Amino acid sequence: MTGFELLAQEGLARRGRLWLNHGPVDTPIFMLVGTYGAVKGVPPEMLARIGARIVLGNTFHLWLRPGLEVIARHGGLHRFVNWHGPMLTDSGGFQVWSLGDLRKISEEGVAFQSPVNGDRLFLSPEVSMQIQRVLNSDIAMVFDECTPYPSTREAAAASMELSLRWAARSRQAFDREDAEQSRLFPARSVGTAPNALFGIVQGGMFEDLRDVSLARLVEIGFEGYAIGGLSVGEPKEDMLRVLAHLTPKMPQAKPRYLMGVGTPEDLVAGVSEGVDLFDCVMPSRNGRNGWLFTRFGDLKIRNARYKDDLRSIDPTCTCPVCSPSTHGDDRPAFTRSYLHHLQRIDEMLGAALASLHNLGFYLRIMAEMREAIAQGRFAAWRVEFARDRARGID
Ligand SMILES: [Zn+2]
Repeated sequence: MTGFELLAQEGLARRGRLWLNHGPVDTPIFMLVGTYGAVKGVPPEMLARIGARIVLGNTFHLWLRPGLEVIARHGGLHRFVNWHGPMLTDSGGFQVWSLGDLRKISEEGVAFQSPVNGDRLFLSPEVSMQIQRVLNSDIAMVFDECTPYPSTREAAAASMELSLRWAARSRQAFDREDAEQSRLFPARSVGTAPNALFGIVQGGMFEDLRDVSLARLVEIGFEGYAIGGLSVGEPKEDMLRVLAHLTPKMPQAKPRYLMGVGTPEDLVAGVSEGVDLFDCVMPSRNGRNGWLFTRFGDLKIRNARYKDDLRSIDPTCTCPVCSPSTHGDDRPAFTRSYLHHLQRIDEMLGAALASLHNLGFYLRIMAEMREAIAQGRFAAWRVEFARDRARGID
């Protein structure tokens, strides 16, 4: 069963619960990025331990490697990657679009050459829905075109219109696949139930185009609505302007997903505007490079000053990296000094532990925001969080 419950609200900020095929997800939530079927360096059991509830997979990459046959033989992506909680898959639109000269966009879809082996391939709304059906993600995304930044109004409008036509085709193809599944699996056990399809609002930095996109997507009807085409290189003020314009107009009873955003501050800003779902590579990617997020500002662990530092990354952090050692002393499980050493010698454990801490930090901020909204003290929490973050870590 799929649905969204709004449990509490403070200002525009929402505390909700999303019911998906593989279980409920409390919102607002940060979704972990597992592009190729792995959250880089972090095993699924550790994901659960840091409070992860929903993981992303990438349609384009998984289609190319290992290919659908392999995943179908496992019975879907959950079994393939051994993550049995909810999953979301993107449509592959962004990746084909990013191929540049290797791809050709037409009304029908996108023809491109596989960057893996040079094969000529074709991705369309229909193909994307078929792939996402095999992956059996709890939330599938419509196939759309990412509007480049910067874009003229004319170009943004044409791209948005194409995305709308593709969204309608995605909805039809998704429902057709769903009807077919019902015929094949009338009992509808977990893993064969209908999943959710989200529409994606486009329109670049133009508010009126965003309005058209949203209104027409709502006419088609989706289980949730994503905001695409932000965090693509535009100034932060533009992102916040589009967000503030759009979220109050989005359907109140449906989940809202801000794609590919962002920093801890962006998450707080998004929640304040009424966003429920986020995803971003930043906590993992920065972690691999030794950039650690903490309550009191960011910390670059490669810096020589941490060579002899026996403290945890963040004294307020409860992640498995910062938690006290199980050996009876007051030391953290992993000291800054050790993490500094691992990063300096480029040991993969250093990258894994840093990712684990950063992801844990992102998930904890979301948990704090959920609690604060439920208790009607989100505004105060937000002020305190901003003050803590600005303080800087010693
Ligand atoms: Zn930590």
